[in-house]
Amino acid sequence: MNDFLSYYRQKEKETETEKVSDTQCPYCSVQCTMQLVEQRIVGRENYKVISKDNPTSEGRLCIKGLHAHQHALHKERIHYPLLKKNGMFERISWKEALAYIKDKFTDIQQNTGSDGIGVYGGGSLTNESAYLLGKFARVALKTKYIDYNGRFCMSAAASAANEAFGMDRGFTNKLSEIPFARCIILAGTNIAECQPTLMPYFTKAKENGSFIIAIDPRETATTEIADLHLKIKPGTDAALVNGFLKVIINEGLADESFINEKTNGFQELKEHIDTICLEDISTITGIPVESIRSAAVNYAANSTGMIFTARGVEQQTDGYMAVRNFLNLILVTGKIGKIGCGYGAITGQGNGQGGREHGQKADQLPGYRHLENDVHRHYISKVWGIEETDLPRKGVSAYEMMEKIDSGEIQGLFVMGSNPVVSNPNANFVEQSLKKLSCLVVVDLFISETAKLADLILPSASYLENEGTMTNLEGRVTLRRATRKCPGEAKKDWKIICELATVLGKSRFFPYVSPEDIFNELREASRGGVADYYGITYDRLKNERVYWPCPELDHPGESRLFTKTFTHPDGKGRLVSVQNNFPKERPDEEFPLYLTTGRVISHYLTGVQTRNSPALKSRNVESFIEIHPTTAQKYKIENQVLVKITSKRGQITVRSKYTDKIREDTVFVPFHWGDDQNVNQITHEALDPTCKMPGFKVCAVKVSPVTDLSLN
Ligand code: SF4
Repeated sequence: MNDFLSYYRQKEKETETEKVSDTQCPYCSVQCTMQLVEQRIVGRENYKVISKDNPTSEGRLCIKGLHAHQHALHKERIHYPLLKKNGMFERISWKEALAYIKDKFTDIQQNTGSDGIGVYGGGSLTNESAYLLGKFARVALKTKYIDYNGRFCMSAAASAANEAFGMDRGFTNKLSEIPFARCIILAGTNIAECQPTLMPYFTKAKENGSFIIAIDPRETATTEIADLHLKIKPGTDAALVNGFLKVIINEGLADESFINEKTNGFQELKEHIDTICLEDISTITGIPVESIRSAAVNYAANSTGMIFTARGVEQQTDGYMAVRNFLNLILVTGKIGKIGCGYGAITGQGNGQGGREHGQKADQLPGYRHLENDVHRHYISKVWGIEETDLPRKGVSAYEMMEKIDSGEIQGLFVMGSNPVVSNPNANFVEQSLKKLSCLVVVDLFISETAKLADLILPSASYLENEGTMTNLEGRVTLRRATRKCPGEAKKDWKIICELATVLGKSRFFPYVSPEDIFNELREASRGGVADYYGITYDRLKNERVYWPCPELDHPGESRLFTKTFTHPDGKGRLVSVQNNFPKERPDEEFPLYLTTGRVISHYLTGVQTRNSPALKSRNVESFIEIHPTTAQKYKIENQVLVKITSKRGQITVRSKYTDKIREDTVFVPFHWGDDQNVNQITHEALDPTCKMPGFKVCAVKVSPVTDLSLN
C-alpha cells in the first residue's frame, strides 16, 4: 500500500500542470475579481478559485463567486445549435441555424412589418453585447420592440434618479466612502445575501459609530447589523418616507440653504407634507410613531448620511415614486455630493449598470440617450451610418412585450441571456404567450425553462470565454478577459449577433472583429451623453477601473457625483410630492396574506447558472416558504412540509420553513426556481405606471398544507 501511495504521489508530481487565469465573478454587480486555477493531476482535472484584490470587493469573494466556474465547466452546457423537430431538440449546424432564423424572421416581417419581431436581452451581458443587441434590433431588424430583464431590476431606481438628479448611476459615490457615513438607511435591501462582499463596508461604518436603519418586513442577515429595524408592512415605503419628511421639516432639520440653492419644488413638497399625519403613517406602515421619529432624526441630524434602496422598495407598483421619496429625503437634508453622503441603488445583476446604459432598454439609445429626442436620434443615426428616418421609435417594456406576443403583434422573439418564463410576473400567462410565437430563438448556456419552449436554441459563451467590459454598481468600468475557449460550437454573444446581422444582409453595419472594436464604437455613441464612456479605452482598462462619466482620454472619471450641481439643465435637484400609495393587490378574506419574494445567498436570478453549479445547488436544492409559526399554526401547516400557495393567478407548491423573523401577515418565497416552484406563477402582473416595473414584492395569497399525493 505504501509503495502504491508513493508511486501515486511521484506520478502526481510528474504529471501535474497548472494554469492560473484572471477573471471576475459573473453574478452580482460588485464584480469581484478572482483567479481560476486549473490543475491536471494524473489525468484528473481539478479547479480552485483564489480571490484577487480589487478596489471594489477588496479581495473578498462570496460563496457564489467561489463556485461560479462550476456552471461554466458543466457537462450539460449546450455545445451546438439545437432545432426542435417533432417536439425534440436535434443538433444542427450554425449555417442551418442562421438560415432558419433568416427564413423565419423574414417571413414574419413580410406579414407583420418590422415590429413583428421582438428582442429580449439581459443585464448580465457585457457592455459590448448589450450595445450590439440594441443596434441589432434597431438596425438589422428595424424593430421597435426590444427590452430586457433589467426592467425588473433597475427601472424604478433609474427613472427616479433621472428625474431627481438628471442622471442615473447605481451609486453616487465610491464604495470606500460608506464607512464615513454617520447614518445609513438600508431600504428593502438584503446586502448580506445578495452582495455579501459589500457587507464589510457597512460593518466598518458601524465600527466608526454609524447609526444603521434597516427597512424590511423580514429580519435578515442584513437587518442584524441595524441599530433600528423598521419591520414595515410590505409596499408602504413611500408612506414611511412621508413620515420621515414630516418629522424633518416640522423639527427644523431640513437643510434650508441646500434646498434654496440646489433644488426645485420644495414649497409644493412642504404643502403636501403639511397634510400628512404621523399617526396615519404609523397605521399604514405598521411602524410606531416613535420609531419613525427616531429614524428621521438620526438621518437628518447626523453630519453625513447615505441611503441605499434595492428591489424591496423598487419592485412595487409605486416603486418609482417610493424611490423618489427617498431621494426627496436626500435632497431635503442636503446629504449628497459630499464625502459620506449619497445614494445607492444596489444593482442586482452582474452588468445591471452597464446593461441599462447603451440601448437594450425600450426607450433608450447608447449613452443614456433617448429614442424620442430628435437630437439624440440624429447623433446615433450618424454613428451607426443609417438614415434617421430608419431608426425605430421607442417600444414597450419587458412584460408589455409578453402582452404584444399574446395579442399576436409580436410573432418572433430573439432572447439573449435571459429566462423570461421564470423572471416575469404572472408566469403562466407568459408561458402561454411564448407558446403562441411562430418563432422563438433563445441564446443561452443551458436549456432553461424558456429555452425548452424555443424552436431554436443557440449555445453561447460563459463568463470564462467571453471578453468584454462590465460596469459595476458604482459606475466603474472593468475589462473582463476571456480565459478559456468556448466548448463545442458555442459562440460569443457578439459573434452570434454579427453573424445573424450578416445573414440578414446587414453586415456592413456590424464589421467588428473583436469586442474592442465594438467598445470603440460604443465610446463614440456614448460621447456627450449622460453615460459618457468616450475617455475609457481597453488600454486604460488593462491597468485601471474607470468611473463614468469620463468624457476625455485624460479624464480620471468621476467617482463622486453632484459635488457642485445636478445634471438637469438648471443644475438643480427636483423634489416632488409623493402620495401614500398602496399595493395594487392587498390581502382580503379569500387571500389573507402578503406574499413577498427575494433571493437566497446561494442562487442568482432565475437559477439557470447557480442551479447548474453542484456546490450552490446542494445548499438550496428546492424553493421554500418562510412563514411565521403563529401563522403556520393558524393554517395547520407544519414545519418542513409541502405547502400550496395560491393567488388569483395560480398555485405553486414549496416546502415550509418556520421563522419568527417575518411578520405574521407576510410570507416569503425566493424566485430562483422554475416549473412548479416558480413563484412568479402567482405574482401580480400590475406595473408601475412610470417605469413599468412589476409589483413583484407584494401580492395576496392563501396557504394550505398539501394533503394528498397529487398535490392538486
Ligand atoms: Fe462578488 Fe457578487 Fe460574485 Fe459574490 S456574487 S463573489 S459578491 S460578484
